[in-house]
Amino acid sequence: MILQFCRSCQKYQYYPRPICVACGGDDLWPVEAAGTGVVDSFTVVHRAETPYTVARVSLTEGPIVLTHLVDIPDPVCDQPVRLDWRDGLPVFRPSLPE
Ligand SMILES: [Zn+2]
Repeated sequence: MILQFCRSCQKYQYYPRPICVACGGDDLWPVEAAGTGVVDSFTVVHRAETPYTVARVSLTEGPIVLTHLVDIPDPVCDQPVRLDWRDGLPVFRPSLPE
């Protein structure tokens, strides 16, 4: 997952934009995310045959990503998660044990 790092204000943003949403600058550089974060909030969607979980994940670098949680049947806020990919889209799974 590629984030943008603003060299003017030292903040990260996701998704990519032409200017920094924090300072309005355009000195933005692509950087690979660490792929770690915590669950910020979530909701389980029961309208599909198989329920799925939509979540906001707060990345270690700071930005918040709207994503799906997989293999987390009973998520809780602040739970550590790690980035994975499914069908070309970013999803988050439980953090690997230390
Ligand atoms: Zn900035």
